[in-house]
Amino acid sequence: MKAKVTVLGAGFGGLELSTLLSEALGDQVDVTLIDKSGHFVFGYSKLDVMFGHKTLDAVRIPYRGFVKPGVRFLQQTITAIDPEAKRVVTDGGSYDSDYLVVALGADYDLAATPGLVEGGNEFYSVAGANTLRDLLPRFSKGHAIIGVSAAPYKCPPAPSECALLLHDFLSERGVRDRCEITMVLPLPSPVPPSPDTSRALVSAFAERGIRFMPGRAVASLDAKRRVAVLDDKSELPYDLYLGVPKHCPPAVVAAAGMADNGWITVDPRTLETRYEGVYAVGDIANTGTSKAGVFAEGAARAVAASVIAQIRGEDPSGRNPGAGSCYIEFGAGRIGRVDVDFFSGPKPTGIYHEPTVSMRADKELVGATRRTRWFGS
Ligand SMILES: Cc1cc2nc3c(=O)[nH]c(=O)nc-3n(C[C@H](O)[C@H](O)[C@H](O)COP(=O)(O)OP(=O)(O)OC[C@H]3O[C@@H](n4cnc5c(N)ncnc54)[C@H](O)[C@@H]3O)c2cc1C
Repeated sequence: MKAKVTVLGAGFGGLELSTLLSEALGDQVDVTLIDKSGHFVFGYSKLDVMFGHKTLDAVRIPYRGFVKPGVRFLQQTITAIDPEAKRVVTDGGSYDSDYLVVALGADYDLAATPGLVEGGNEFYSVAGANTLRDLLPRFSKGHAIIGVSAAPYKCPPAPSECALLLHDFLSERGVRDRCEITMVLPLPSPVPPSPDTSRALVSAFAERGIRFMPGRAVASLDAKRRVAVLDDKSELPYDLYLGVPKHCPPAVVAAAGMADNGWITVDPRTLETRYEGVYAVGDIANTGTSKAGVFAEGAARAVAASVIAQIRGEDPSGRNPGAGSCYIEFGAGRIGRVDVDFFSGPKPTGIYHEPTVSMRADKELVGATRRTRWFGS
């Protein structure tokens, strides 16, 4: 009998895991990969869409292109998970498995920030980025706030990238001197594991006249008065609000009783949950790393190695490295990089690489290799 592996969520983690299982085991495994969406979008593509660098169609990669031996992709919504029985119920059926991997990512809790509207004034969903793409060209005067509601949030440098790209966008249109930009961030610095990266971003803000408010979160928005209320009750008036919502586990994970303090508790190295044969990878898992695709991918590789070994009758050996590189848009076409390592020292570390124009090719290669590897084009 073929081993059955059910992978919940076809994001960074689910796609890499399913690809590795297929490469190693081919038709000798029965992988069911389930996602409610019809297409994959890289997280950073939301910034490309928002600032009009790419169209929505260009960044949506249809799952019909994900064709691998031993893997079937189902576009269905998962409505219940029974981790004890390793059984999953969707709007299309019920699936039992020998190994269950939860890779459902992080959802957004819009209600936690009254006034924040999904697909309206936030840039963390594809719909939100697409709406802002139409709004941004109409913003020519006044105060823009890039506001983060809570940590943890996906890709810690992304709000900083948004601020620097907004500066460029307004400068190119000749209206920068009529606009103010403020970034409100609940973290003490833009990229806490790397003081050098944080310093470089903070001086890039200063050079461009971007006001940076660290250690503060946006608690609510009063749309009528066009005021953001911060967690210390102070108020900031705005003409344009670009928000990052509070993150939360998908409702189906919470309902399954799998999320403790928000996220699924795992062994950070093996990604095992407290349920036998059940793993969690990526943004949904509490590993201690940042919520970013690069860490989801590393975790997925570790789970793939362990599942493959067990199917072959060997000891599970996969180890999550908890390390990876994040590319950072510094504006003016330049990209920097930080190599972050969460596990090897007593504290997370980050090595900073100064931004250059040529680093863009490296970032594009990361996207292109994943696209080819997962979707064949
Ligand atoms: C603006 C922005 C910029 C970013 N830039 C970067 C970057 O430069 N580098 C980087 O490494 N990371 C970046 N990220 C973060 C990155 O996108 C995520 O961390 C990564 O996608 C997490 O992978 P994952 O597999 O855990 O979850 P996801 O990729 O989010 O995948 C989860 C999947 O689960 C599916 N799903 C959820 N609930 C259900 C359900 N009930 N039924 C069926 N399917 C469901 C979703 O449709 C989704 O496809 C960025 C994110 C944002 C928002």
